[in-house]
Amino acid sequence: MLTKLSFKIGFLFFIFILIIESLLFFVLYTNIANGRIEDVLDDLLARANTHSEVLEMNFNESTLEHVGIMESASDFVVVVTDEEGKVINHSDTIQQEMRQVVEAIDYNSNQTEGRIVEDRWDDKQYIAAESPVNIGGEQRGHVFMFADTGNVKKNVNQLSNQFIVIALLTVGLTIITIFILSRFITHPVIKMKEATEQLSLGENQVELHTNRKDELGELAESITKLANELDQLKTARNEFLASISHELRTPLTYIKGYADIINRQDITESEVKEYTAIIREESEHLSILIRNLFELAKMDRNRFTIHREEVSLRKLIYSIANRIKPAFSEKNIAFSINCPENIVAFVDPERFEQVLVNILDNAKKHSSEGSNVQLEVSQMGEEVIVTTTDEGEGIPEKDLPYIFDRLYRVEKSRSRESGGSGLGLTIAKEIIETHGGQIEITSEPGEGTIVVIRLLRGGNNE
Ligand code: ADP
Repeated sequence: MLTKLSFKIGFLFFIFILIIESLLFFVLYTNIANGRIEDVLDDLLARANTHSEVLEMNFNESTLEHVGIMESASDFVVVVTDEEGKVINHSDTIQQEMRQVVEAIDYNSNQTEGRIVEDRWDDKQYIAAESPVNIGGEQRGHVFMFADTGNVKKNVNQLSNQFIVIALLTVGLTIITIFILSRFITHPVIKMKEATEQLSLGENQVELHTNRKDELGELAESITKLANELDQLKTARNEFLASISHELRTPLTYIKGYADIINRQDITESEVKEYTAIIREESEHLSILIRNLFELAKMDRNRFTIHREEVSLRKLIYSIANRIKPAFSEKNIAFSINCPENIVAFVDPERFEQVLVNILDNAKKHSSEGSNVQLEVSQMGEEVIVTTTDEGEGIPEKDLPYIFDRLYRVEKSRSRESGGSGLGLTIAKEIIETHGGQIEITSEPGEGTIVVIRLLRGGNNE
């Protein structure tokens, strides 16, 4: 079945090729047909001239008879007149049309050369040439040569028939070629259309097998890539939703469980206090989780805007340090900062603070008593590098590739105890990348973790 596109392409090709072929055929046909007719006319004139030359040498009865006999065996008819147009010899019966030609010429003209006197081969039954017999500067007679146009017409008809057959063959071959060509172009397009329809119906496993190296091959490759990405995205979304519901369910189960216990009669005052504290803590977890999820949702929908300004990193870091130092001291972890005074970065201070707090909070959570956490800022050319180093438990190698994934936690239960939801690093990465920077983590289990943030210092023009 012809599809719309292949039909359109085929039809356009066909019209163009038909026009070109028709033009070529027309030129070729007229050239060949005219060539053949001219050959016949030239032959006719040559014969008339030969006869008149013979008669010029011997203009007598026997030569006239000889000329007549010569042509009586040929396809031509010769008519010889005297100088006034009176027929004095002829090789065949003189037809009405021949007589009209003989009578039509001007016998008073002093023409010396032979000429064609009737060339309308398609209208007339005869074409004719005339050659005067000039002896001693005087016109003594005229030789008329006639050729039946039947032969010429037959020749031209034959030629026309051959052309019609060739034209039909060419048109047939053209149609077949165009059909194959248009299928060659449209077949992959149809396959791609079907694939995208499948995609819109939710079928993500789309394979467009094409080895083509042209634009259509590239398009097919892009569609396959898109389908795979969509598939991955859907899987990630489903996993994410499953993780979220799990994350929400756990604190809710605690809250509901302890609320039920509090309602019991046999419970002491101190137990009520303890359980209420747990409920508050779990509610706190929930609200942090929901806030973080909301942040991420905003980032996903590109509603996340950053308001950059020139920020003195030393000032920003010390203000964060003042707030978090008590928590570090409580755990007996030494927190040191090494930040030159003059380093200025063009960042959103609130967002950047969020990143540093998340990272330092992780360092604190995963470090043991008596260890050190260091924050170092340096500048290399246009790049500002912020490095935090801890001597904590580190991250196993197998977890490192997933550490920035949503809700990914290395040790689920322990991380939960410390209030982690697996969103801190995801948010940090999103914020740093929105600033055009990079964040990398290297870690050695048992030795510690290093987080490196690289930012272009930037300027007011950004
Ligand atoms: P969370 O809110 O649970 O800490 P993050 O996205 O911040 O989530 O971190 C993901 C996981 O990476 C954590 O569960 C933790 O196991 C691990 N991690 C992050 N930073 C460190 C660190 N400095 N030392 C050891 N493990 C870390």
